[in-house]
Amino acid sequence: MPGFELWGAEERKEVNDVLETGVLMRYGFDGPRKGMWKAVELETAICQTFGCKHAQLTSSGTAALTTAMSALGIGYGDEVIMPSFTFVASFEAVLSVGAIPVLVDIDESLTLDPAAVKAAITPRTKCIMPVHMCGSMAHMSELKAICKANNLLLLEDACQSIGGTYKGQALGTIGHAGTFSFDYVKTITCGEGGVVMTNDEDIYEKCDGYTDHGHDHKGVDRGADLHPFIGYNFRISELNAAVGLAQIRKLDQILAIQRRNNKTLRSYLEQVPGISFRVVPDPEGDNASFLSWFLPTAEQTQAVVDELKAQGILAGNFYWFNNNWHYIRKWDHLKFAATLNNMNPMQKEALDKLAETSFPVSDGIMSRCISTAISLSWTEEQLKEKGEKMLAAINKALLVNA
Ligand SMILES: *Cc1c(COP(=O)(O)O)cnc(C)c1O
Repeated sequence: MPGFELWGAEERKEVNDVLETGVLMRYGFDGPRKGMWKAVELETAICQTFGCKHAQLTSSGTAALTTAMSALGIGYGDEVIMPSFTFVASFEAVLSVGAIPVLVDIDESLTLDPAAVKAAITPRTKCIMPVHMCGSMAHMSELKAICKANNLLLLEDACQSIGGTYKGQALGTIGHAGTFSFDYVKTITCGEGGVVMTNDEDIYEKCDGYTDHGHDHKGVDRGADLHPFIGYNFRISELNAAVGLAQIRKLDQILAIQRRNNKTLRSYLEQVPGISFRVVPDPEGDNASFLSWFLPTAEQTQAVVDELKAQGILAGNFYWFNNNWHYIRKWDHLKFAATLNNMNPMQKEALDKLAETSFPVSDGIMSRCISTAISLSWTEEQLKEKGEKMLAAINKALLVNA
């Protein structure tokens, strides 16, 4: 899955370029930087690679989401519809701009169920935020149509699906804005970093200023810049951007390995009657960083995960095991509005309501789902061994729990 598995001379070279000049900041210092503009270069590469007009790098994917929300004008009291299965950063960004996360069910695509989205629309809804989880995409045609019919903004959290596409368009470039994360475990990494992509010049200019204290970047130097609005410091450093530059050149290679390994592993699981696979709205566009599959019942899934664990095989299950970050069932801090400071009353009211809401449909899906992370470094032999071990573990668990 992650680009860090392909760390090498290319990354070191780009970082060394920056270390040679010592100019670690992306703005200013025009003389000493000797023509080195790694962040600008990476933004250009992102536009070319993913086919968008504008890209604004940020210090993280979370910062990218927050920046995108602000640039889209999402703020106090606005409702943002998002899925019950994502990463905590998605709702953190919504809350940070004063807006209200409205969580709705997923379907077997592991992303937003368009029918659940429709049912959640109120006069306060401002934005729909699909999250392209585990490398694969949401039902974008349906979601786009819902946005159009209801005059809503579409913001894609594509942090986990770099390189994925939907009907030929890069995930993250389909909505009004979209984001990637380049944290250490994503498909390509900067160490830490993120990006907002958009085709809208106005949204881009707002992102550009917001990530740098509201600077308009039009002065003769930084001191002379004007500040048309209040921003933050969500800047990426030149060091991080340099890593990303080496990584983005490896993206095709990363995707090819992921797709090959994913397909091989899948061919083993396809031999088990009863196993079904995640719905992928455009199978060609899966970035293949995960293979997500279902067993018929929750009990069988639990037994299989236990057996895989006993065999030393990591089997991502976000319902009971492994991980408290991704599914609403484990988000007590959100449901109980555990902030360090006073929360705005509209948010508090919404979260109190959320704490009372159950998600039987999502529970039914997530409790039967296993997501296997695809490694770039598996050899053919390791892959074969893994596939055979998984088959044996699954058959054993299913036999006992038939
Ligand atoms: C990783 C991730 C983010 C946030 O990215 P960071 O760079 O870690 O802040 C947001 N959304 C999803 C779905 C993610 O997986």
